[in-house]
Amino acid sequence: MAAGEPQADCLFCKIVAGDVPATIVHETKDVVAFQDINPQAPTHILVVPRAHYANAGELGTEAPELAGALLAEAAAVAVGEGCSDSGYRIVFNTGAGAGQTVFHVHAHVLGGRGLNWPPG
Ligand code: AMP
Ligand code: ZN
Repeated sequence: MAAGEPQADCLFCKIVAGDVPATIVHETKDVVAFQDINPQAPTHILVVPRAHYANAGELGTEAPELAGALLAEAAAVAVGEGCSDSGYRIVFNTGAGAGQTVFHVHAHVLGGRGLNWPPG
């Protein structure tokens, strides 16, 4: 499978295609932002590229412009959610050992409450 190509068994490719429902908060030609189904904070939005890359490292290596667009969208989502002044966190769990469960890169945008550091 070439990097960036849709993957048939990928949940987030299905959300991007509209085959699995999601609460979409914003989208551009390159990226889609939607509510996490199991929110861990008052604001918990996932931002994904439409193209399939397995994780943040692969995205940054194979498609750095798209990685930039993803970060810009994460920041715009935080502004839209009203948590950019109070502070928010952009998280890329990368690899199963770090808690990644969906292997289509996604930025978690978390905010709306105090966030401890370091995370667990
Ligand atoms: P990660 O564990 O970092 O791979 O994050 C995957 C995230 O996807 C988790 O926070 C899940 O709650 C979320 N998730 C799983 N299925 C869905 C879905 N159908 N719609 C929205 N978010 C989902
Ligand atoms: Zn995918």
